[in-house]
Amino acid sequence: MGNEQEFIKVKNFIDGQWVEETGVELEPLFNPSTGEQIGEVPISTPEASAAAVESSYAAYDAWRHLPVGKRVGYLFDMRRAMQDNAEDLAVSIAVDQAKHISEARGEVQRVIEILETACGIPTLIQGDTLEGISGNINGRVIRQPLGVFGGIAPFNFPALVFGWFIPFAIGAGNTFVYKPSTQSPYFMQKMGDIFNAIGLPKGVINIVYGHRNIPQVWYDHPKVTGVCLVGSTPTAKSIAENCGRGGKRTMLLGGAKNYLVAMEDIQPDIFIDNFIISCYGSAGQRCLAGSIVALVPEVYDAMIEKMIEAAKKVAVGDAMDPDVYMGPVISAAAKKKIENYIDIGIEGGSKLVLDGRNPNVPEKNKDGYFVGPTIFKDVTPCRTIAKEEIFGPVVSVMKIADLDDALCLIKNQEFGNGACIFTQNLYYTEKFIAEADVGMVGVNVGIPAPHPYLPFGGIKDSHLGTDKVQGKDGIDFFTQNKIATVRFAPPTGYYAGDEGKKAATISAKPQDVRSCVAR
Ligand code: NAD
Repeated sequence: MGNEQEFIKVKNFIDGQWVEETGVELEPLFNPSTGEQIGEVPISTPEASAAAVESSYAAYDAWRHLPVGKRVGYLFDMRRAMQDNAEDLAVSIAVDQAKHISEARGEVQRVIEILETACGIPTLIQGDTLEGISGNINGRVIRQPLGVFGGIAPFNFPALVFGWFIPFAIGAGNTFVYKPSTQSPYFMQKMGDIFNAIGLPKGVINIVYGHRNIPQVWYDHPKVTGVCLVGSTPTAKSIAENCGRGGKRTMLLGGAKNYLVAMEDIQPDIFIDNFIISCYGSAGQRCLAGSIVALVPEVYDAMIEKMIEAAKKVAVGDAMDPDVYMGPVISAAAKKKIENYIDIGIEGGSKLVLDGRNPNVPEKNKDGYFVGPTIFKDVTPCRTIAKEEIFGPVVSVMKIADLDDALCLIKNQEFGNGACIFTQNLYYTEKFIAEADVGMVGVNVGIPAPHPYLPFGGIKDSHLGTDKVQGKDGIDFFTQNKIATVRFAPPTGYYAGDEGKKAATISAKPQDVRSCVAR
């Protein structure tokens, strides 16, 4: 990108305006492919966060009372604008988050699909009616919006996490304050322009950049109803504590450590293709990235050989280079942390069979944050590299005795995001689906990411709370049920039937059971 890229001066988007807060710290923004500074991001104050809440609160009443078809009309327009600007949006992700441009295009496309799903909100938010609870009484469940939500995004999916939170939230009638990661802010700068271009009423979506002091304003704020996060598990736990004290509704997706389990009857080509996509796509910085490959003895040596051979062919380099498969990791600090895990793996006694440190990259990328595909074999479950989330292209290979062994390892880990099995055996398949102790399972796929029509999320330390993102869960989280009991007999003071007409005086006989339920 280098010279063609204009310097990005990130601004907050508050009340429909691009706002520059004066006197705040500015964090440098880097292109991870080159290490070059490409912009600066404001570390906004709590006052900016509070102003965003006020704006969203002021917008809420009119927005929630807008006919649902009109609200969804804005989602249709947003979808069309994203489609029209898809390449520009993808480049914005490839520039600061350094996801390879082909994957960045896929991420934008996925958000468009989520918007298409959210356009079904007039159907999706319909409630229920129970007719005939009693002669003249019906019961009704209505789904209503809640108010102002705050959302916090991780660096690795600047577009997707917007898609997970905001179309469902605002389509259901809520308004939203969004804090993107300061490491990948550019996509939401483009989206702010789209919000204005489609005429989205001011305050329906506000964007504020900064660190934890931005959501800190929300936890006790009387005008904030709920908070959602996609990020690491320690961040999720800290927000859960704060929101618990503040009585806020939460949806918190955390970190991960995902198994790819290969049985003796795998189809090697399918397995190897999926191993590469899963473990080295997005440079391993995906919550559903394969991190542990568990192989049964029958295929252990042969598959490791094939994995090394395939991983060596992964072209590492600039996220904008079409001949590259894997871009850099997000920052110099992330590179150092991943390399430190490689040291820990070696010191712990695991065998480093492919070393990704200091991969060959073109001269223009020599200051980028690159770690190439890395493979350890003979890793045992108690090793640090087998337990902790590395969030980079480092794979631990373990030998398992059988399927039960794999299921036991998956059960015993703290994370529970995804796990995949490679097999053609129906028994293995069904047992794995039923018993793998994770939220998302895959069979002969490397990334078990559910389609936008379905919920997405893990269990255990990978997901705090009940509702997941997308699908019916997304609707449940961003709506609350109100239950109405409706008597529809004429309000003339008599009950149905002749008996009721006679009830001039009301008295209780000793044997009567009086219920608080309408009859
Ligand atoms: P992170 O937890 O460091 O930061 C995530 C966001 O939270 C950022 O916007 C950050 O500014 C903010 N934040 C950090 N500490 C905070 C605190 N104490 N209070 C409030 N906000 C805080 O995560 P990251 O490094 O940006 O992203 C990578 C992590 O996200 C990985 O652990 C990855 O597994 C996880 N992730 C999970 C999913 C999922 O679906 N489960 C998806 C994508 C990423």
